[in-house]
Amino acid sequence: MAVEGRARAEADCPDCRGTGWRTRSVAGARRAERCDCWRAGVAQQMLARARIPARYSKCDFSTFITYENEKLQRAFRKAQEFAAAFPVVDKGLLFIGPPGIGKTHVAVSVLREVVLKGMRGVYYDTRSLLSTIRSTYNPVTRASEAEVLQEVMQAELLVLDDLGAERLTDWVEETMHLIVNTRYNEKRPTVFTTNYEDVSDVQNLDSLFVRVGYRLHSRLREMCEFLEYDGPDYRDFEHPPTAEFLYQKWKLAPSRPTGPSGLPQRTSRRARARLPEGQLDLGWAGGRAGT
Ligand SMILES: [Zn+2]
Repeated sequence: MAVEGRARAEADCPDCRGTGWRTRSVAGARRAERCDCWRAGVAQQMLARARIPARYSKCDFSTFITYENEKLQRAFRKAQEFAAAFPVVDKGLLFIGPPGIGKTHVAVSVLREVVLKGMRGVYYDTRSLLSTIRSTYNPVTRASEAEVLQEVMQAELLVLDDLGAERLTDWVEETMHLIVNTRYNEKRPTVFTTNYEDVSDVQNLDSLFVRVGYRLHSRLREMCEFLEYDGPDYRDFEHPPTAEFLYQKWKLAPSRPTGPSGLPQRTSRRARARLPEGQLDLGWAGGRAGT
């Protein structure tokens, strides 16, 4: 890292003439310290390794539009406080709400700020993480599976986007539990987003509880602050909407909070036939991965 930082400094910086070091006189003695360009270079490299998807690469707190929506404002404030306090935080965050309301934007903003502070952070979409782990599993390339797992388990901050999108199988449950539990035990905070409501009706197929399973749900309760909000789908607008426009849309939307969780009850579907416990849907031949 130091070598790359230095290469960058050489290209850009008049202050240190490319060494990444500059000297300063302290009480008559010359003292060497890192040049600002070196720090900035290192931060940019760490950001490049954070795997933030291209479409979110410009997302930060300054580009997120808030309006008079109490739960949204609270979630946004909590995100900013979390990023500012990191790594001195007790709990991670879980952003809950319908698609298109900027949950990923906020989560990525947290990640960006934490990484720019010099910490190792990484973003993964939950489904693509699981499929990466799954696809790298075979007896020959077992090592690459371990690599991805190590990365997500050891990052100082992990953002796991779209939790619950993957259909719950024993393997998914086990793999998620391994990742989340390891992070929990080692006191490494995680920021999640999910489209699935945290309702008390455990028969509701669209509930977070059903989507992630009992074990993970109860772990999430312990390790995260749940932040639910709703709003109009940003993706419906061609141009970045104004706060006033979003507020009007939100106020007029038929799906204003009605449910016990404060989120709209989108469906009354019931769990008619939950997958039988123990049924495996591994997606490859030859047994389980991640064990
Ligand atoms: Zn410099």
